[in-house]
Amino acid sequence: MKIENPNPIQWRFSDRASQLQSSFIREILKITQRPEIISFAGGLPSPATFPVEQMKAAYDKVLSENGKMALQYGPTDGYAPLREWIADYLSTDSCKIVPEQVLMVSGSQQALDLIGKVLIDEGSRVLVETPSYLGALQAFSVYRPEFKSVETDDHGLVPSSIPAVAEGARLLYALPNFQNPTGRSLSVERRIELVETCARLGIPLIEDDPYGALSYKGEPYPKLLNMNPDGVIYMGSFSKVLTPGIRLGYVVAPLPLVRRLELAKQAADLHTAQITQMVVHEVVKDGFLQQHIPSIRTLYANQCQVMLDAMAEQFPKGVQWTRPEGGMFIWVTLPKHIDAMKLLDQAIAAKVAFVPGAPFYANDPETNTLRLSFVTVPPERIREGIAILGKLIAAQM
Ligand code: PMP
Repeated sequence: MKIENPNPIQWRFSDRASQLQSSFIREILKITQRPEIISFAGGLPSPATFPVEQMKAAYDKVLSENGKMALQYGPTDGYAPLREWIADYLSTDSCKIVPEQVLMVSGSQQALDLIGKVLIDEGSRVLVETPSYLGALQAFSVYRPEFKSVETDDHGLVPSSIPAVAEGARLLYALPNFQNPTGRSLSVERRIELVETCARLGIPLIEDDPYGALSYKGEPYPKLLNMNPDGVIYMGSFSKVLTPGIRLGYVVAPLPLVRRLELAKQAADLHTAQITQMVVHEVVKDGFLQQHIPSIRTLYANQCQVMLDAMAEQFPKGVQWTRPEGGMFIWVTLPKHIDAMKLLDQAIAAKVAFVPGAPFYANDPETNTLRLSFVTVPPERIREGIAILGKLIAAQM
């Protein structure tokens, strides 16, 4: 039997929900998934790197040997052996991380939401880089902070610019390694200055680090976490080193905070899938990542170089871009008068896509910027796409 609705519901959304916006990138992705488009827009890792066979074998092993546990509810903080593995992985000679500091989350994107829930009140000041990761701006926005931008130059975040905006700040959100969207990394000197400045001002420092392992030279930079485990909240992810579809990440924080995050996580989704954590532990526990990550680095380093070479050949004078030493992105700065949003319309008509830079700014967007990803496009198509973009840009010079 079907009941009539004589009084159709007039949906009344909460103020919070009314201001939710779809991420611009996710909107573009709908267009750019068309096969005829050469898409530099995605933030997706290359599926060529996904360890399908290892995952399949691990699922099989976990289900055969420990199926009942894998399919049961699990603890909110996560699967203990995996938390131990992560604590070990992040520990250095001078800085020991303990499993109690590790909270497993459903993708590090969830950590951003939980951090927002636990640290941000309406109007709280939140410090972000210019530009910053769009997904973080989106996650924090739900809690209606006042974003203040910290200056960035060609070498990334400028720590000396923090004190001017620090008053009352609840947190500083930083991406020190192969930043999304710019591909820039902080020098060791700047890392030290950043950690010292936040410690001096008493501001919690968030280190979002999904790309840190993807250093092309194979030498990861020192983590902010290890410089000051009492003042840094570290976010890690298996998305870029294994596969994003499993939605598995972790946050490492000082104990009082991690317990709060755990309570927020409990309210949100009880826990991250037990089977996923057991499978990932099975995959990583005997050192698989040490052989796997170098193959990702090699692929990305080669494609990055192909794109950089093509840009040097095809882009007109007056266009600038970053030269990443790891990760997945190149950031392009066009002459001031060119609007990347308009360029995108022309580019899509010419079957090339990228992400305009403006949505990555919390305040005062620079509309002449854009982000290119080189990881999912084969070299031939990278050259073809960059040549098309170069012509479109040149036509506007
Ligand atoms: N932080 C940054 C900087 C990212 O680029 C991403 C993914 N694009 C995330 C967090 C979220 O990653 P995940 O939820 O897949 O772990």
